Amino acid sequence: MEGLTKPVYVTKPLLPALDGIVQRLEDIWESGQMTNQGGQHELLQKELKLFLGIDRLELFNNGTIALLLGLKALGLSGEVITTPFTFPATVQALDWNGLTPVFCDIRPDTLNIDPKKIEALITEKTTAILGVHVFGNLCDVERIQEIADKYNLKVIYDGAHVFGTKSGGVPVANYGDMTMFSFHATKLFHTVEGGALAFKDERITEVLRMLRNFGITGPDQVALSGLNGKMNELQAAVGLEVLPLVERERKKRQRLKELYERELTGVPGLRIITNLEGEESSYQYFVIEIDEAGFGCSRNDVHDKLLKRNVSARKYFYPLCSGFEWYSGLQSSRPEHLPNAHMAVDRTLALPFYGALGEWEVERICSFLKQLNAQALIAQ
Ligand SMILES: *Cc1c(COP(=O)(O)O)cnc(C)c1O
Repeated sequence: MEGLTKPVYVTKPLLPALDGIVQRLEDIWESGQMTNQGGQHELLQKELKLFLGIDRLELFNNGTIALLLGLKALGLSGEVITTPFTFPATVQALDWNGLTPVFCDIRPDTLNIDPKKIEALITEKTTAILGVHVFGNLCDVERIQEIADKYNLKVIYDGAHVFGTKSGGVPVANYGDMTMFSFHATKLFHTVEGGALAFKDERITEVLRMLRNFGITGPDQVALSGLNGKMNELQAAVGLEVLPLVERERKKRQRLKELYERELTGVPGLRIITNLEGEESSYQYFVIEIDEAGFGCSRNDVHDKLLKRNVSARKYFYPLCSGFEWYSGLQSSRPEHLPNAHMAVDRTLALPFYGALGEWEVERICSFLKQLNAQALIAQ
């Protein structure tokens, strides 16, 4: 079968019409204020609170800095229980706060931190649980909260994949003490680069604002060791133009997801990481899992063969964070404690998934996969 004539990537940023952007740039030029909580910033903050259905939200220059400063604002110390199956930023935000990650294995179905394995990892030094809603699937938020309440721990979520996701009608950011969102260009909603924190405790607002502005509290006063975490006016302007496009993008992705599911359900050795019952998903990614024994060839083979046909799938997340060289001394990073995470990291593959992707392209990608499977099984 012929490959695609043009390369297809895993995602494509939402690009709003330039007219709207230019209008906003004119407003910014008129105001003369380029950053530090200008008009666009304030407007975006307000609109995002409405869109996400939450009361407390602060904006940042990217999701990593948002998480880093959020952890600092919560005053955590010692150890934080987290997942190894995530993007490096999740655990690097711990590193930069001098916090030690304690890696907990994941559930084989949702690929999220396994609440059944959390309690055994709690020590006197544990101060928080940091979960990641991987590929848009919610963590076991109720169970995690019960454990946190029992041991007096904070709960933080990396919500980079769940912008606008609701579970049983409840916005995801309502769970835990704090949720980070990333507004990187590859995310469903974006501000080119950007991020936000949603949080429970109103008292944290002022601390977060100080931390993201060098700890400055007044004209002659620096009260905290902060850094530069501010979202500028150009970022916010792009966000204000992208936000009205999000709902339509979600609907398009939903249709493509249904098409992928129709085409791929029942292929031996191929599992679709679907979203949970009752969840209104962000459709951030479409991810499959390849079991070599059943499918006939490995995830890496599938990845390479798709690439030859101009389909650029991604081994998302790869490698595991627990495998980073600087964690090699940690007891919790040993592979024997993380069997499900190791399985996931060797098997998952994110397929091209964005609104502008053609249905015929999805059909071709699925045909390639089915053909690979058939050929591999014949060769066995
Ligand atoms: C994108 C992403 C981040 C990083 O966000 P940035 O805005 O790029 O800093 C963190 N965690 C996860 C799970 C992500 O997908």
